[in-house]
Amino acid sequence: MSSRTSTEPVSAIAQEIARLGSSPAVVSAIEWFRDQEPEFTRWQLELARIPAPPFGEAARSDWLAERFRALGLVKVHKDSVGNVLGSDRGNSSGTISVSAHLDTVFPASTPLNVRQQGRKLHGPGISDNASGVTALLAIAAAFANFNLPHAASLLFIGNVGEEGEGDLRGMRHIFSDPKWKDEITASVVLDGAGTDTIVSEALGSRRFEVTVRGPGGHSWSDFGTPNPIVALGRAIHLFSQTRVSSSPKTTFNVGVIRGGTSVNSIPESASMRVDVRSSSAAEIDRLEFELRRALEIALPEESSRAGANRNSHRSELNSELVVIGDRPGGELDSGARILQIVHAVDAHLHNTANVQRASTDANIPISMGREAIAIGAGGSGGGAHTLQEWFDTTARELALERILLILLCLAGAAK
Ligand SMILES: [Zn+2]
Repeated sequence: MSSRTSTEPVSAIAQEIARLGSSPAVVSAIEWFRDQEPEFTRWQLELARIPAPPFGEAARSDWLAERFRALGLVKVHKDSVGNVLGSDRGNSSGTISVSAHLDTVFPASTPLNVRQQGRKLHGPGISDNASGVTALLAIAAAFANFNLPHAASLLFIGNVGEEGEGDLRGMRHIFSDPKWKDEITASVVLDGAGTDTIVSEALGSRRFEVTVRGPGGHSWSDFGTPNPIVALGRAIHLFSQTRVSSSPKTTFNVGVIRGGTSVNSIPESASMRVDVRSSSAAEIDRLEFELRRALEIALPEESSRAGANRNSHRSELNSELVVIGDRPGGELDSGARILQIVHAVDAHLHNTANVQRASTDANIPISMGREAIAIGAGGSGGGAHTLQEWFDTTARELALERILLILLCLAGAAK
């Protein structure tokens, strides 16, 4: 299935949004969002107090599954990687997914000093992504409490593995499951604060750990033995001369370098970590090719440089390149129906939002040619990925209204 270009006139979508926005059930749900803020704040604080380091989200999954059940979602369960799923059935085929990631970047040992000062909430992960999970619950609660008919089913997902080394494993799992792969026709990802962005361009990245190994030796008596650090240095020099395109923007970085034991030893190994980013899969492939080529040139160069200093023995270096992260990129067709819906909802709400490129859970469906976006969970926030992270609940209801209208329009009127 490829990203569809909507043939529906834009004005028909705008009319549908206006109709939905003035329907009594939606109006009641929106009033309720405003009244429920103290409860939403409680959920958000409670959730942020549960540690959820990468690969350690189980306690949060349990907490969310319990909330999903209490709200009356059907088929609430945890899948084999720890994603929590629950549905609100529609009366026709197809499923719209709405998800928020459960994991944080903080290791299990991080003190979670989560606290409230009026409308401002503080603590690691309070915005990214306790705010997204709170919005997910608020929307699920609205479907449970109000008569909001919809044709396609809604699948609520609290997923694992969005951050860092999680490498989008939660979403990857869902979109590789034959049960969901073809069933989910559009996806809305809730990540972080705000209402001012629409991520429809999936920034892809690939990360490598490169290790160069050699026999090593004494700096004086084994002089002439090829040096892995020097070989790595040569490879970095070559790779860093690679030309990259500015459109689509493509970048590379050598972020970590390690190796050696002492100043008077020829090292036995040296390694580096390299990060490559682009929304174009072809550009990422090309940079990987250039990185491999730089190593293929640098190692024999270093062996012959070293050997030239010692005619007799010729020892070899070898290298290993391991992909330690791979997030596929891609972008939605500018005529994609989901984008037209978000723009129409924003026009209806007089909300200003910009289309952006980022790496989110939406990368997985977008890279498969599916309709997906990532948007904020309202309020405002800052200090993401630091201990000083904060979230201000002011105007959270605007995001909830925005999310609700987008989902209702995507799911279609009940038949
Ligand atoms: Zn996030």
